[in-house]
Amino acid sequence: MVYNPEYQKKYREKNKDKQKQYQKQYYEEHKDELKLYREEHKDEIAVRQKKYRKEHKIEKIKYDKQYYEEHKDELVVKRQKYREVNPIRSWASSTLTSHRRTGFIVDIVRDELISLAERIEYCPICGVKFDWCGNKGRTLSNSPSLDRLNNGKELNIGNIDIICYRCNVSKRDRTLDELVIWNQQCIDYVKRVKLERGL
Ligand SMILES: [Zn+2]
Repeated sequence: MVYNPEYQKKYREKNKDKQKQYQKQYYEEHKDELKLYREEHKDEIAVRQKKYRKEHKIEKIKYDKQYYEEHKDELVVKRQKYREVNPIRSWASSTLTSHRRTGFIVDIVRDELISLAERIEYCPICGVKFDWCGNKGRTLSNSPSLDRLNNGKELNIGNIDIICYRCNVSKRDRTLDELVIWNQQCIDYVKRVKLERGL
């Protein structure tokens, strides 16, 4: 038979469900073997996957985008559910991703951030209790956020703290020393304005 890519494609499309069913059945029947194989070839698989991801980066972005558009509603619900069950874990993942996307050099492993987050329940500046879930993924004033202690240095576990979003917005990129000065300036300002306006 002459190889006909169009025909192959059509055949695959036509038998998509059958194929899926077969794969599922095969997986169920060989579950343990497959698991063992994955464990034994862990490093090899990781290298292969990394190489594949690198070579197919643009296609992957395109595919992810398309997949997201087609499954948007269910993905939002799924993500929200995951967030409710694993609030700190999902906060840590999305925080690291968004910092990387913004262009920060992030030298933090997710598990490191999770164990730091698990030890901090309240904002160390204002004392508000953190809301790890947010409102449907939206940031709240008491949402936890990463704060860099030394702005000249990269994001690593020794150089960060977790403070509430509201405090972080006020602090912005101030260094610790600048923060002390700014707070004194705030006190002086309030005193002055109250005196001037008779408040
Ligand atoms: Zn705070």
